[in-house]
Amino acid sequence: MNDHDPLAGAHLDTLAVRSGIQRTHEGEHAEPVFATSSYVFENAAQAAARFSGEEPGNVYSRYTNPTVRAFEERLAALEGAEAAVATASGMAAILSTGIALLKSGDHVVCSRDVFGTTVNLFAKYLAKFGVEVTFVPVLDLAGWRAAIRPDTAMLFLETPSNPLCEVADMEAMSQLARENNCLLVVDNCFCTPALQRPLSLGADIVVHSATKYLDGQGRCIGGAVLGRKEHMNEVLTFLRTCGPTMSPFNAWVFLKGLETLRLRMQAHSAAALEIAQWLQLQPAVERVFYAGLPDHPGHALAARQQSAYGGVLSFVVKGGREQAWRFIDATTLMSLTANLGDAKTTIVHPATTTHGRLTPQQREQAGIRDGLVRIAVGLENVDDLKADIERGFAGLR
Ligand SMILES: *Cc1c(COP(=O)(O)O)cnc(C)c1O
Repeated sequence: MNDHDPLAGAHLDTLAVRSGIQRTHEGEHAEPVFATSSYVFENAAQAAARFSGEEPGNVYSRYTNPTVRAFEERLAALEGAEAAVATASGMAAILSTGIALLKSGDHVVCSRDVFGTTVNLFAKYLAKFGVEVTFVPVLDLAGWRAAIRPDTAMLFLETPSNPLCEVADMEAMSQLARENNCLLVVDNCFCTPALQRPLSLGADIVVHSATKYLDGQGRCIGGAVLGRKEHMNEVLTFLRTCGPTMSPFNAWVFLKGLETLRLRMQAHSAAALEIAQWLQLQPAVERVFYAGLPDHPGHALAARQQSAYGGVLSFVVKGGREQAWRFIDATTLMSLTANLGDAKTTIVHPATTTHGRLTPQQREQAGIRDGLVRIAVGLENVDDLKADIERGFAGLR
C-alpha cells in the first residue's frame, strides 16, 4: 500500500461512505461501536502524559470516543468544516454553541422562525445568564440590520424554515455578520450537507439535530456543532466539562446513516416536489408552501443555494382548523407525529402542536394559519402517499 490519501479531493458520496474510518487490528470492514467508558494505559507515565495532554489519545468517553470521533470526522468532511463536535441532541448542540461562544452581556439576533425549543433556549435559559436575544422574521433583512447592536455577538437562523419553507439568503446574512463582527450560526437540520453547505456560503458555525435526516430512520437522538477549530475547541471544552456528549451507539447509527444521506435526501426531495405539485391541483387546498414550486417566494434563492428542496412541505386546507383536523384524522398511512427526517412520512397540524405555544396574533404574523398542515415526506411509494392524502380529502365536509 502506498500512502496516497484516496479521500483527497473526493466527492460527497465518497466521503459519506469512507471518511472517518479508523480500522483496528481486527481488520473489521464496518465501523465498530466502541462501547467503553474509559481506556487503559500501558504504564503510569503514559497515564500521566494522556492526562496532561502531552500525548494524544483516549482517556475517558466524556472526552473522546473512537466511534463518536468517526462520526464527527465524517460529518465535518460532508459540511466542509475544519472540525465537528458531536452532542447528545440537537438542543445540546445549540446550548453548547451558546454557552461556549457567548458571555454575559452579549446580544443575539435570532430568526423568529426557528425550531420552537430553540426560541425557549435563548429566551428562557441563556437569558438567565445575561445573554439578551431579539427575534426577527427570517426574511426581514432590514429587521436583522436594525436589530443588531454594538454588543451583538451572534446571528442565528434556520433555512429553509419550518413549516413554510422560507429561504434565508446565507451569503447576505454572512456579510451582515461580518460587517458587524458577529458569528453567523445556521441550523442545517432540514437540508443537511447533502443539499446545502452553509459554511461554504459564509456561515461561521453549523448546528445539527442528527435526530432527523442524519439518522434518517427515527432511531436516535443526537446533534453536532461544526466550524473552525478555534470555535470547536471552545465547544469541546464545554462538552468535556458539562457532559452533553453523544453516546457511542448513537454515533454509530448516525455514522451509518450518513452513508445513505444523499440518496435519501434526493428521494425525499423528489417525492416532496411531486406531492407539492399535485397538491396545488387539489380543490380542497388553498395554498402549498414548498420552495421547489416556482411560485414560492424562496424558489430562486433555494435553487441557487440548495441542490434540491428537501422533504418538508406544508399546505393550507380550506376551512381552517376543523377541516385540517378532519383531513389529518382521515389519513391512515402517514404517521401523526411532529418528528421529521424519517423514512416514514409524518403529518402534523402546526398551529396546535409545534407552534401551539404562540399567541393567535404571533401565529398570524408568522403565517401559521389554522388550516395549515405539514407533511415531512418519507421514503414510501409516492402513489401510496397520494392515496393517503386523498383519504384525507375524502374526510372533509
Ligand atoms: C429537532 C430539531 C432540533 C432539536 O433537535 P433534538 O435532537 O430534538 O434535540 C433543532 N433544530 C431543528 C431545526 C429541529 O428540527
